[in-house]
Amino acid sequence: PAGVSTAALLLTAASGGGIVAYADSSRAEEASEPSEQVAPRKKKVVVLGTGWAGTSFLKNLDCSRYDVKVISPRNYFAFTPLLPSVTCGTVEARSIVEPIRRMFEKKKKDVTYYEAECFKIDATKKAVHCRSAVGTNLDGNGDFLVDYDYLVVALGATVNTFNTPGVMEHCYFLKEVEDAQKIRRSVVDCFEKASLPNISEEEKRKILHFVIIGGGPTGVEFAAELHDFLVEDLVKIYPAIQEFVKITIIQSGEHILNMFDQRIAEFAETKFLRDGIEVCTGFRVVNVSDDLITMKSKSAGSEISVPYGMAVWSAGIGTRPVTVDFMHQIGQAKRRSLETNEWLRVRECDSVYAIGDCASISQRKIMEDISTIFKIADKDNSGTLTLKEIYDILEDICIRYPQVELYMKSMHMLDIAQLIESAIGDSHKESMVVDIEEFKKALGHVDSQVKSVPATAQVAAQQGYYLADCFNKMDYCKDHPEGPLRMTGSAAGHHNFRPFRYKHLGQFAPLGGEQAAAELPGDWVSMGHSTQWLWYSVYASKQVSWRTRVLVVSDWTRRFIFGRDSSRI
Ligand code: FAD
Repeated sequence: PAGVSTAALLLTAASGGGIVAYADSSRAEEASEPSEQVAPRKKKVVVLGTGWAGTSFLKNLDCSRYDVKVISPRNYFAFTPLLPSVTCGTVEARSIVEPIRRMFEKKKKDVTYYEAECFKIDATKKAVHCRSAVGTNLDGNGDFLVDYDYLVVALGATVNTFNTPGVMEHCYFLKEVEDAQKIRRSVVDCFEKASLPNISEEEKRKILHFVIIGGGPTGVEFAAELHDFLVEDLVKIYPAIQEFVKITIIQSGEHILNMFDQRIAEFAETKFLRDGIEVCTGFRVVNVSDDLITMKSKSAGSEISVPYGMAVWSAGIGTRPVTVDFMHQIGQAKRRSLETNEWLRVRECDSVYAIGDCASISQRKIMEDISTIFKIADKDNSGTLTLKEIYDILEDICIRYPQVELYMKSMHMLDIAQLIESAIGDSHKESMVVDIEEFKKALGHVDSQVKSVPATAQVAAQQGYYLADCFNKMDYCKDHPEGPLRMTGSAAGHHNFRPFRYKHLGQFAPLGGEQAAAELPGDWVSMGHSTQWLWYSVYASKQVSWRTRVLVVSDWTRRFIFGRDSSRI
């Protein structure tokens, strides 16, 4: 009968070609049951990007639990905080990158990597469309599709020109390793060009005018590196033209480094003034042509144009086209980055997570959630709560929204929290009744005041680590949830995981001349030569491998002994 032959055939194949035959099909079915239980299919995790967020996720993920695929056009991880040092040859480009496959091999991780660019995320079909970054396949087509159960979007950001005319065509950027290498060649080009015969003094001044647009940490650090390169190396090699060199920083805000403590901003401005670096604050660049930068004074409204030889644009980050396309698909078109919840899952998008510069944690629901918490707490609908209950609510809000906690620390919310804290210390006041509406008014502008976490490597790395930790304990936390109470949705009980909580570990700003400024936790500010040594030790210790650590430290030593290499290769 047909049943016998089919079963026999299947078993023959399954037993590796040996002859196995059964008299009836029911027996065959029984026998075809596997004696050992087949392991369930591993869930497919696809990671887009090998920057700070993506590699931190991959380094901490237990890859034996998942079928992991990584897609990135860059087959290495770049230590971006040292990119400004690459622009002037203080550190070599290869010293700050670590091949991604080497990272997996060292950690014995079973990960598949494709050197490709994702150009479309299809959340409905749970697949990503990719294009090879290294030529085509055998069929002459470089495009392919990768499906996923979970997608981790760690695409980072791109430069943002704010549609300023001429910026794309005439400015250099400092975002990728290749950008830093281009800047290095261009600086040397400017010096060689200004050294050619038959160049007027005016022309020399123009060629050797280096303009940095954007006074944030990257722009300031590049200006400092460039100044060191000029005074320590180039003036010795090009003594005849040193008097024509000028560095200018254009900053739209009132101070450079305005995300740092004001003492650091002032220290940096004074130091730059001493070094001869011109700092133009309160000016917005409105046009860049091939030889002029036009800027507008924010106070007077007047415009001035300055001739320049080389301009570096370092004035903000924008969204990658693939992220923009995905945001359009999921109704987030008006945003600048992917909106996630506190668990870093993209809003209204199951199984897709976003970490690093391409994502930001939603703040729009904070007030909604706060209102829900009040409703839940006001069991008897009296419109009032005791101070003790309100204090518990504040604590709950802080667990759910670490950003609110940050805000409370800095703004008048602290007074409210302290008021309540001191009140509940007193047993009479603990039961004091408070009108909910009155209290909500005090919280009224939380939404607009809460600051989002910044787009830095620190945040990206912490988010990658947090998300990998959630993935590692996904099964365990299903039965042992550790998060706060759910307030919305059909599922009752607790959230599986605690929300992501950013821990700020401080930030550095190297200012050149072996001086740096640092803002450390606990409002600790440090500036000067000793801080530069702290910077050296922190950045050496933060290297991702011993190989890059040795390379970076030997580059620093080489620079101390022999100076920087000014050859244009
Ligand atoms: P990235 O590190 O940019 O990684 C994005 C990844 O996505 C890359 O691997 C990229 O190749 C990949 N990718 C891009 N497009 C695609 C695509 N279509 N498909 C697949 N993959 C794609 N932060 C600090 O905290 N401290 C500092 O001192 C500091 N200094 C900095 C200096 C400079 C010059 C720069 C540019 C940045 C600096 N930052 C610093 C910021 C920090 O680098 C970023 O916040 C951080 O890189 C963000 O990490 P990310 O993983 O989100 O993005």
